[in-house]
Amino acid sequence: MAKLVAGNFKMNKTKKEAEDYCAELLTLLGKGYNNFLICPPYTLIECVKRSLNGRGAVGAQNVALAESGAYTGEISAKMLKDVGADSCLIGHSERRHIYGETNDDIAKKLNLVQKEGLKTILCVGETLEEHRRLKSVLESQLSVLNDKDLTNIIVAYEPVWAIGTGKVATSDDIIKAHTIIKKYVKDKFNSEISILYGGSVKPENISEILALGVVDGVLVGGASLDAKKMAQMIKSAK
Ligand code: PEP
Repeated sequence: MAKLVAGNFKMNKTKKEAEDYCAELLTLLGKGYNNFLICPPYTLIECVKRSLNGRGAVGAQNVALAESGAYTGEISAKMLKDVGADSCLIGHSERRHIYGETNDDIAKKLNLVQKEGLKTILCVGETLEEHRRLKSVLESQLSVLNDKDLTNIIVAYEPVWAIGTGKVATSDDIIKAHTIIKKYVKDKFNSEISILYGGSVKPENISEILALGVVDGVLVGGASLDAKKMAQMIKSAK
């Protein structure tokens, strides 16, 4: 089965750049590849949705902590759905570490996104300093799954030290973390869950990463900004 390639644009691209990107991506892909998700900035969700012409899927990078009201600058789950988002990243390490998002915040966001019927990509991962406590750190981040409907949730394991640094986790690191996550979900909820790996994935290393039996797809930052690299990765994941 095709594996998912999710691209996180972070705070990059204008409307024209996003339109050109989507057109180039679709041309490079030709027919038959839909195993991808683009997460552009909020301002481009509608544009990317339209430009992809029904191919792949579109996601947001974050969501507000409330349904509506006096929260200047925030965007609710209902608004994301309204402009065509299919899914939403929650708990990306940049949200946790730059903006101080806690597991409590992430659990609330998960509820709000689920209420709107959007898929969630829950990002988890340890800092270098937390690496020796990998199991307990991941389990505490995964505790936000309690009482949730897991059918619409994917986990993305992204070691913080591998994001945007060019350092890819070793095969052993990835297998160890993914096994901890799968076991936690099995033991707690008697369920399975899909897990993406994220952290400096690029065309040159994606095949090796996807060949590890425990990886269901990838979450890509930097390399996803280039339509040629994105197309190559999507084709490698088929
Ligand atoms: C990310 O932003 O989720 C990410 C994995 O970034 P990069 O691929 O640039 O490491």
